[in-house]
Amino acid sequence: MLMLVIVDGEKRGPADGTGPRWPEWNLESLMLAMIFINPAYWIVAFALTVAWAWFGTWVGRDAPSLRRQREFLWNWLMVGSLALLLLFWVLIPNFWLALLVNLAVMAGVVAWYWHVRVVELGPSGHLLAAVFASLGRVAEAREIKKSAEQLILEYITDGGAPQRLPATDDPLYGGVVLADQLLVQAMESRAQIIELSPSSQAYELRFSVDGVVFPQPAMQRSAAEPIIQGVKRMAGLSLDERRRPQKGGIMVRDGAGQRTVWTVETSGTTAGEKIHLQAGASQSWRLALSELGMTAEQLGMVKELAALPEGVVLVASPAHMGRTTLLYSLLTTHDAYTNSIQTVESNPRCEFESVTVNKIDPQNPESSAAKILSNLLLKDPNVVLVGICTDAPSADGIARFGQDRKAYVGLLAGDTLAALDQWRKLVGNSEVAAQSLQAVIASRLVRILCPACKTAYTPDADTLARLNLPLGREIKAFKANTQPMVDPKGNPVKCGECGGIGYKGRTGIYEILLINDDIRKALTSNKTIDEIRTLARKNHLMLLVENGIRKFAAGVTSIQEVLRVCSPEKATRGAAAPARPQRSS
Ligand SMILES: [Zn+2]
Repeated sequence: MLMLVIVDGEKRGPADGTGPRWPEWNLESLMLAMIFINPAYWIVAFALTVAWAWFGTWVGRDAPSLRRQREFLWNWLMVGSLALLLLFWVLIPNFWLALLVNLAVMAGVVAWYWHVRVVELGPSGHLLAAVFASLGRVAEAREIKKSAEQLILEYITDGGAPQRLPATDDPLYGGVVLADQLLVQAMESRAQIIELSPSSQAYELRFSVDGVVFPQPAMQRSAAEPIIQGVKRMAGLSLDERRRPQKGGIMVRDGAGQRTVWTVETSGTTAGEKIHLQAGASQSWRLALSELGMTAEQLGMVKELAALPEGVVLVASPAHMGRTTLLYSLLTTHDAYTNSIQTVESNPRCEFESVTVNKIDPQNPESSAAKILSNLLLKDPNVVLVGICTDAPSADGIARFGQDRKAYVGLLAGDTLAALDQWRKLVGNSEVAAQSLQAVIASRLVRILCPACKTAYTPDADTLARLNLPLGREIKAFKANTQPMVDPKGNPVKCGECGGIGYKGRTGIYEILLINDDIRKALTSNKTIDEIRTLARKNHLMLLVENGIRKFAAGVTSIQEVLRVCSPEKATRGAAAPARPQRSS
């Protein structure tokens, strides 16, 4: 039918007017086409072409799921058939004939693809099943979008796709919305831990920011219980199980595109169910030794220790005070491709390439630390990391292994001397313990003063004397801001950097006891810890608190913070700090 139009427009050869004559589109012929051809024909031809192009793109997406089909063949077939159909519209003068031929070609290709799909996929290969499935996916995507609309954070799967949340008319949805608001509140306060635990009347809510607990206003049961159910649903936990401990995770993306993984733990108490959420990215456990806040001298000592191919290095701290991060930093100084590296941990925080992680299972005697270690040492590794050593057989095995290989061992202890005493008792043989021991490193984490609101002050002479800081020496003393800040209009405001806490982030302080010949001899001859301490001080051992005072004198942290984390209570309890409300407003 269109042939008529094309032939209608003619033009003579360019030079002399006698050359070959070529059909050509021009405005006049187009106008003719518009006028003389029924517009309904155009619409039908256009609609069929669009439908075929859509089917072609669908086949392009679908064909790769058929393993026995060459997807590029189907791609070319669809492109080729589209071109052929267009050609038929142009070449066949009669509209009805063109329509018939086109429909026949389309039906043929559809039937062929249908057949191929059924042969490969069985009954689910029927095209109608595929159509219903894709309609279902569209409805699901719409539902996911609808339930996400009322939430502030974006909840995603490991792959980054939106998580399927309860529908808006689901009774759980209210709890999900409240849980979302709680997470936003916690993240705005920079809390790394959220705890919601039942008391007889209500629920206690606590946030932990940089290791310090901040109690929040108590929550009614009617609000807390739906939140717990909502969090459990998002973390993929069983909603019916309210007694036995469960563990899962929620991945969120905030408005800035930052991803945070919240590890969710629930368990039952006599008063009800409690929930513990901890934010953490595995990256936060991967720090180089130089990023841990050591002095240049400490860094040099630790690097030298790590460079030696043998010996035991003990790393001691109370819980949550930098021990695991330091152990990992030491481990990653060893090349994992030229060394065989193994770890024994009850709670591995992240994975390192080419490092074999052996997880302790407290329920399974075959996966106890001692059992894993005895099997692992037979494999003759070069470097072994033990997250926390608590049993004598493991300690003995590691102490002997360290005579010609490298071992890093975590201990729950307050300082280097306490750790030394613990190790000597665990190994049970002073000579074996002393022989391979290279060093004991104790760590603590102190909060860094908020750079935006820290307050300078001049410490009095008494304080300087007590801290053993020389008078007259230039001390950049700062403390956390405790005065409410005001905006230009005089309204009280929180510091935008730290949220009014006065601190932001943490850094490490360290005590490094090198085991030299004197100390080794003292250990072997069963000298008391006090005697060894005197000896170590003679060898210029810098204590944790002294390292902390240096950080204070450099303006990094406050003296209150140093004394808080170095308190004897902290050393023995080995747990998180008690609540200390320090909000300035
Ligand atoms: Zn601040």
